[in-house]
Formats: sequence, structure tokens, C-alpha cells
Amino acid sequence: MGVCDEGHLLDVNEALRRLAEAIPIPGLPAMVADRDDPAMDRSAMDGVALRAGDGRSPRRLLGTLFAGDDPSRFTVGPGEAVGIMTGACLPPGADAVVPVERIQREGDSVLPLESPTAGDHIRRKGEQARAGNALLEAGRPWSAARAALAAQIGRELPLPRRPVVGVAPTGDELVANPTPWQIRDSNGPMLEVLAFRLGAEVRRLPRLEDEAGALERALRNLEGIDILLTSGGVSMGEKDLLPGVLRAMGATLLFHRIRLKPGKPMLAARLGDLTILGLPGNPVSAYLNALLFLPVALARIQGGEALDPWKEGHLAGPVLNKGDRPLLHPCQLLEGQLHPLPSKGSADLVRLAQADACAWIPPGGTGAGRARYLLLP
Ligand code: AMP
Ligand code: MG
Repeated sequence: MGVCDEGHLLDVNEALRRLAEAIPIPGLPAMVADRDDPAMDRSAMDGVALRAGDGRSPRRLLGTLFAGDDPSRFTVGPGEAVGIMTGACLPPGADAVVPVERIQREGDSVLPLESPTAGDHIRRKGEQARAGNALLEAGRPWSAARAALAAQIGRELPLPRRPVVGVAPTGDELVANPTPWQIRDSNGPMLEVLAFRLGAEVRRLPRLEDEAGALERALRNLEGIDILLTSGGVSMGEKDLLPGVLRAMGATLLFHRIRLKPGKPMLAARLGDLTILGLPGNPVSAYLNALLFLPVALARIQGGEALDPWKEGHLAGPVLNKGDRPLLHPCQLLEGQLHPLPSKGSADLVRLAQADACAWIPPGGTGAGRARYLLLP
């Protein structure tokens, strides 16, 4: 065991759970049917509405009813029928629908190819719900289907919006034209693209200085941002100031330091309604931690839970993992198999950029065979 791989690092699943729990989901109100569903007997098919009792005898067509038409325009008597489109309501007198595929048409009359039965292809008034029925209890998370249900019962809904993610790298070493002892900011553009690909509206923020006062001022000035992604400044160095500054500001630290390689220094906090994901500075760590944690925060703000991102595949060769933390290892996906890349670790952006996926390697390493993996968007 390496000296840094202590037992007090938080398990990744526990960290994901804490993050999810800290972000309230805007729950739905209770939903009650405002009227019968359907409100009248409706056709489930394009066809003709007729009286089943007339059997297979020819019917004279009176006209056609389209979805949205008042069905009382026609009354279907013996030997009569009305053309009816899906969603149109049954005219008085009719008790069955014969689909267009099951009729023969000659001029103004139609001949059913088989004997209809009363109720055929009709969605009965109230068969889905009765006016006043409880459809959904209060507090359920949003889903597309629940939004549709709310609309169906006549509730005004706000247009869904994408959560706003601000991206702010830290590090005084980041400059546009680096000397050999400086570097360019690669995390900023990487996290902007990742947040965009994961469904966020992205804001580019100024670099955060490695100085406590400036850091605090910047953190107080994040109007309109739902999630702040920072990179760097959360590790054990003398200029890793973010955890201390957040504590001093009264933020709730959800976790700091997780049992994952790369990405041990990962931090998450809440400052009022703002969620802060303090990603490690090393590019591979920043990317993989954002990939694991950002979807959870985005989904909760949007009103639901994130989908499970893990896939199962076949690892083409062994991967060593000498530490006692699970390892996410960059792989290329070739013909459906995961081929491990010779990654040099958390700073190896080159191998990360060549990878399509990252395989989950348990402590101790693994041989070729089944493996869980994440696709890299
Ligand atoms: P830190 O956690 O701030 O000590 O950063 C860890 C490592 O990541 C250092 O080598 C940093 O120079 C590097 N790093 C930090 N931020 C970035 C960035 N935005 N782009 C590329 N590398 C970075
Ligand atoms: Mg730094």
C-alpha cells in the first residue's frame, strides 16, 4: 500500500450518493385527472365507424370524421358508416371501427372483409382514467412522460432549461504563451466541451488565482451559475487553497478525497444553491471525475436521476493496478474490444485523447476478460 492510499478516502459510490442527496430535485405536484381519459369513445385506428350488428353487409358512407371533429355531425343508422381517423370520436349510433386495411371500398359504399364485433378498435371513454382520479402523487421527479401527463391535465409548464455550468481553472502556471516552466490551460476547454456534451449550458469564467482573497471574491460572484467546475487547487500543495477557502466561506463540503485513481483529491461542495465540483488539476483526473460526477448534478437539477453510465465489455489484455484504489484506465475500442493504452497516469492527456473508453480496474489489477467501462464523450 502506498503511503497516500489511506483507508479514509471515500468510496466513489458513496461520494456519488452524497452529491446526489445534496442537490434537491424539483419535485412534481400531485396530478389529478381533470376529465375522463379519453373524454369520449375514440377510434384507435384509421377506418370506418359502423354498427357491428349489420355484420358484413355493405354500408353507405355518410362522410369522414377527423381527430378534433365534433362527432355529433353524423348519426350512423342501419346500413350506414362514417369514415373515421385515429383519435376522432365515435359518432352516435356507431359501436365498432373496422380498420381501413379490413374494408373494401366501392364509390360511396364500404364492405367489411370480416364481421365486426361491438367495441372493436375503440378506446373507451374513461378507460385510462376517470375525472378526479389521482394519477401521480406529489414529489415524484420529473420525466418526459410526466411532463406530458401534466400538459394533458391542463397544467402550464415552464420550458425546460439546461443547467448552467461555469468552468474556471485554477493555477498561476496557466498562460497562453508558456515558458518551459509554465503550461497552457488544457482543462478549461476540455471541461467546457465535456459539460456541453453532457447537456449543460456552458459559461467560460476567468481563471481563479491561487490566492485566498481573490478566490473567495470570485466564488461570491457566480450569479446565474448552477454548477461550478474548477480544476486544480484541491490537492495537498501549499497553493491548493480551494478546500480551506470554501470552509471559511461556510460552504458545505460534501466530500474531499475519494478512493479512485486518478482523481483522489476530488472535492464537492454546496454554497447556497451553487454546486461546486472541485476537480483535480491533472487532466486525466479532471476529465474522469467530471465524467463521473457532473451527470449526477446535471440530472438532479433537471429534475431526475442520472442514468447508470457503466457498460460491460471485453478487455483484450491485462492491466496492472499496484495501488489500493480502483483504477480507471484509458482504452481504445476496436471491434467491440477494449484495448488498454500505455498510459503514463493522471497527467497523460495524450493517451486520454487517443482513448474511446476507460476500463474499471480493481486494486491488484486484472487479466484479459470481462470489464466494466465508461465511454468517453
Ligand atoms: P494542482 O492540483 O493544482 O496541483 O494541479 C495538478 C497538476 O495539474 C499540476 O501539474 C498542474 O500544473 C496541472 N494543471 C492544473 N490545472 C491545469 C489546467 N487547467 N490545464 C492543464 N494542466 C493543469
Ligand atoms: Mg494548482
